[in-house]
Amino acid sequence: MLHQEHGAKKHELDHIVPRKHGGSDDTDNLAWTCFQCNRYKGSEVAAYDPETGQLIALFNPRTQQWHEHFLVESGAIMPLTAVARVTIFVLQINRPGRIMVRQLLAQTGIYP
Ligand SMILES: [Zn+2]
Repeated sequence: MLHQEHGAKKHELDHIVPRKHGGSDDTDNLAWTCFQCNRYKGSEVAAYDPETGQLIALFNPRTQQWHEHFLVESGAIMPLTAVARVTIFVLQINRPGRIMVRQLLAQTGIYP
């Protein structure tokens, strides 16, 4: 969850619902994602919520609003919902190096 110019690698086109789960190539099912998030997401579509054990679908940037599920706090992306908890977990959004990059970008006023 960085702008492309702030990542070490170019962003990639992700199938929100992967083809192997029946996802289409329609723009409704495509998202521009950072390399690292996309590596961790792979072909996942859902995960078990660490708080409740319920199976929860990952955040869908085409149908859901980011600010309703997440907020940024000192470089960490914090969950407001179960959708956010599973997405942060699967995409490993708050690995220490990623928080550090966000903190550095925030100090220079270019993040979020
Ligand atoms: Zn990312």
